Amino acid sequence: MTSVAQTLADGTALLHDSSASPRADALLLLAHAMRREREWIVAYGDATPSREEVQAFERLSTQRSEGVPVAYLLGSAGFFGREFLVNESVLVPRPETEHLVAAAIAFIGKRPLDVVDVGTGSGAIACTIAAETRATVCGTDTSSAAVAIANENARRFGVTDRCRFCVGDLTEAVSAQRFDLVVANLPYVPTAEIPSKPDPVAFEPREALDGGSDGLTLYRRLFNTLASLLNANALILLEAAPPTMPGLSAIVRSALPHSAIAVCRDYAGLERYLRISTGATDA
Ligand code: GLN
Repeated sequence: MTSVAQTLADGTALLHDSSASPRADALLLLAHAMRREREWIVAYGDATPSREEVQAFERLSTQRSEGVPVAYLLGSAGFFGREFLVNESVLVPRPETEHLVAAAIAFIGKRPLDVVDVGTGSGAIACTIAAETRATVCGTDTSSAAVAIANENARRFGVTDRCRFCVGDLTEAVSAQRFDLVVANLPYVPTAEIPSKPDPVAFEPREALDGGSDGLTLYRRLFNTLASLLNANALILLEAAPPTMPGLSAIVRSALPHSAIAVCRDYAGLERYLRISTGATDA
């Protein structure tokens, strides 16, 4: 029988050409197949996996070699220190979005503010804000499958009392409410730039990625109605593609001419989100 270490080495070799991180992927998938922590896999290389475990691992690594994102194979993805449930109905939460969440949490501080997360997907942004602050958060999404996952995540993290989700286009489902903070990671990839398989992004829902010809179609529509939903001194945090920042800033300036707009960078140093202060106190 092959050892854990050899099984891991075989999986790493299989993923060599298809993954940017073959060993890390193989380690996660083997740990999942064996229902063990990653640390166990590393520490017990001499152990022998069962035939079922090896078969489960081979199935997972074959799917990974065809491009399926690791998060869909594991059924979860880490975000801001929590493990969120994900499936093919939602975008895999990205590390760069943690930056936007950190800015939201800093703005909220200890205040019991009202927050809307437009296009919530897995609910990673909304649930994290609810878990880390005393704010009340509403997440919206056009996809009822996404809202089902977001609700599961809210239950998982015990935030259902202050975090709820509605199905609807952009802010349609919350149009009677007012918010102190708006966060959005709307689809922003220009249509022509959406990758095709085997790129892992191509396995994610197209409606969570496709931002129209210039990547800003959804943001343009959001700003048709957003102004009337804002409380005084509200903050808006928007994630978008680095090349679209000037275009997005122009949309914001025309909808909210008195706001202060700052472009912020992600961990990679790329211009990734806009911070829009509508009040004089948070310029
Ligand atoms: N960050 C994602 C990507 O580059 C896109 C997310 C989005 O469109 N909101 O693949």
